[in-house]
Amino acid sequence: MIEVSRCSKSRIEQVDFNQLTFGKNFTDHMFCCTYDQGQWHNPRIIPYAPLTLDPGAKVFHYGQAVFEGMKAFKDDTGSVFLFRPDQNIARFNKSAERLAIPEFPEDLFLEALKMLVNIDRDWVKSGHGHALYIRPFVFASENGIAASPSARYEFMIVLSPVTAYYSEKLKVLIADHYSRAADGGVGFAKAAGNYAAQFYPTNLAREKGYHQVIWTDASSHEFLEEAGTMNVFFRVGDTLITAPTNDRILDGVTRKSIIELARELHLDVAIRKFSVTELLEAYHSGDLKEIFGSGTAATISAVSAFGHKENLYMLPEVSDCYADRLKHALQDIQYNLGKDPFGWRLKI
Ligand SMILES: *Cc1c(COP(=O)(O)O)cnc(C)c1O
Repeated sequence: MIEVSRCSKSRIEQVDFNQLTFGKNFTDHMFCCTYDQGQWHNPRIIPYAPLTLDPGAKVFHYGQAVFEGMKAFKDDTGSVFLFRPDQNIARFNKSAERLAIPEFPEDLFLEALKMLVNIDRDWVKSGHGHALYIRPFVFASENGIAASPSARYEFMIVLSPVTAYYSEKLKVLIADHYSRAADGGVGFAKAAGNYAAQFYPTNLAREKGYHQVIWTDASSHEFLEEAGTMNVFFRVGDTLITAPTNDRILDGVTRKSIIELARELHLDVAIRKFSVTELLEAYHSGDLKEIFGSGTAATISAVSAFGHKENLYMLPEVSDCYADRLKHALQDIQYNLGKDPFGWRLKI
């Protein structure tokens, strides 16, 4: 049973929904659940508020924390939908396992998502680009700086109203020195520290005028794996190519949805390793048509140019753009504008 205590006054009037900075505003309520003495207990929805934590809490010292990112959408009639929440719930527990965090019960997770989003449903605006970004996370809250897994955790869900994320096309730099993940590491998990490790090399790329880094495999820097915090697709001729997932690549829900949609649209999809050498060959022969990233926050972000070593390569404008077609197909499902042939929408 989830206990609910509501806030006395909503803050919704203080928010300009047409001028949102991604992830800066939070709704009136949050979900919390505590793990202690071997079990999760006290699931509750309470007014959104700061936490009080002991400075010795393990998360501050060892980064034992994982998170998820998903969205709720509202259609023109006011119905609110989650998009494939089962996928995020399963991945959350996969990430948690890798960080030695106890898994969170799937049923309770889904119930919490539905109840929390429903309570704050006025914060989900209908219309193109509007969505409610949902951030479930868990962290080690045991007080004590011995380097061992925590005996206590806090699981939480917070909600943030957002509009379309990246609007401009991205300039990306192919990594040839730094890596975001290694074989046998935690790259496949949504571990908080993965992001911290990306900030410095991404800052270096920004200084050179790029928005994001295209991550390559850690050992040879030859295979193209992810774009910033997104999965990455390449269109060569009429074939859409994306790397197979492995323990360095995050298994994106957007990525897998795009693969299914592309097949439904009778586009040729190849899930295979794709190298920098092949990319440059395709560029020089004129076969490289598009590059785009995929992820919940931005849905699909087109790339306008990529850098490798000291060279900059500008992509052509294409008339029959796969990124646009796939983005529309995906958003039609998310916003309840079309059929849902795969059963991805969950009405709450
Ligand atoms: C979350 C994430 C993605 C995208 O996953 P989605 O489920 O599509 O949002 C891709 N790469 C990394 C590194 C991520 O953390």
